[in-house]
Amino acid sequence: SLPNSLEARDIASQLHSYADARKQEETGGIVIERGDGIYVEDIHGKRYIEGMAGLWSVAVGFGEKRLVSAAQQQMEKLPYYHTFTYKTHGPSIELAEKLLEMAPVPMSKVYFTNSGSEANDTAIKLIWYRSNALGQPERKKIISRVRGYHGVTLASASLTGLPNNHRSFDLPIPQVLHTTCPHYRTNKKDGESEAAFAKRCAEDLESMILAEGPETVAAFFAEPVMGAGGVIVPPDGYWDAIQPVLKKYGILFVADEVICGFGRTGEMFGTMTYGLQPDIMTLSKALSSSYMPISALLINDKVYQPIADESHRIGVLGHGYTGSGHPVAAAVALENLKIIEERDLVGNVRAVSPVFQNRLQALGERDLVVETRGIGLIGAAELHHPAYADAPGSLGGKANAEFHKQGLISRNMLDAMAFCPPLIITEPQVHEMFDIAEKALDTVETSH
Ligand code: PLP
Repeated sequence: SLPNSLEARDIASQLHSYADARKQEETGGIVIERGDGIYVEDIHGKRYIEGMAGLWSVAVGFGEKRLVSAAQQQMEKLPYYHTFTYKTHGPSIELAEKLLEMAPVPMSKVYFTNSGSEANDTAIKLIWYRSNALGQPERKKIISRVRGYHGVTLASASLTGLPNNHRSFDLPIPQVLHTTCPHYRTNKKDGESEAAFAKRCAEDLESMILAEGPETVAAFFAEPVMGAGGVIVPPDGYWDAIQPVLKKYGILFVADEVICGFGRTGEMFGTMTYGLQPDIMTLSKALSSSYMPISALLINDKVYQPIADESHRIGVLGHGYTGSGHPVAAAVALENLKIIEERDLVGNVRAVSPVFQNRLQALGERDLVVETRGIGLIGAAELHHPAYADAPGSLGGKANAEFHKQGLISRNMLDAMAFCPPLIITEPQVHEMFDIAEKALDTVETSH
């Protein structure tokens, strides 16, 4: 690229997430300039289908003018205020009320943060605070799952069960343990049925709780469907087996709805798809369609009451962010939720997901694809070829580059190609997306 190009200036100025820094220096990135609906365009006018909705998040699509004017109106009226020390403002109150009304299980209070990582990090802090308030200071251990993704702050990266997020950071922190990932194909034992595997996942969890001492385990964190770990849809019976174990030992259940929340699985929340009974839900991404950074925790009475008692005793809850409940982010989120409801985007997910899932499954007929998995408007196709077996992620990286070349922004999680388009996608657009994926895989198949 030219020395003064944006690509070259990017290489000279930015360190990127999830990129090989040296490789980035050689090849440069794609500079996205604008977006419209499910499409984005780079600075050279090349158009792409945004098959990942950004980072699993732009539910209402790009260029939604209602969100622009919600932001502008709030900016003009009150661009910033905080929610510390009895101060508050209308947008945060309205959004909190809206989330409590939408909650799929009874929830008592909303707490605002700025990112999914901060929401999960805050959940850990509230859980620890609660344990202390209840006079159970030993109850601090948290169990999450191998291949779960919960963020990248020191504590939320510890919850995350992926080597990339631990390696070279001295993580996880010692309070966090990881139980079995519910991926049947790779974790089943010889001859084990899917039902038996689901049951064993719950037995593994119970064994871990018993080995640690149930009185030391405070909470279990999980995504209803694992996203960044490779789109792992739990086997039938998994949640029905897991939840009684948590109940049995009085362990709080935190549903990380950062990807699943607001329609992705074909219900408003993944919690509804799987009949979950979480004590805390963490929300972000589609909450504002990522037009503004915002996240939220919903906490039930079991979590709230001891925290309220404790803050009454000691006078303060020593936690909070400058941007907690930011009025512009809250106003945008509120308008975004109105759009999701008015346009019945959950209904759209139900209407177009059969075609989405059929086209995804059809990819599975290729020699290059060992497995497809998905639900609603989220899915992944796992690639495999012996020529690439020694370097996990190399085939996925190659396919990803080809997808991009052919006009589809995808994301390879090692060799799993993820699909997670905006929830406004139409049936013809689903076909357009998978037509590109098929053509790109044709090219990959003939090139080694
Ligand atoms: N939880 C889940 C399920 C996620 O997918 C993500 C981000 O991808 C996070 C938490 C972290 O969110 P953030 O990147 O906003 O910190």
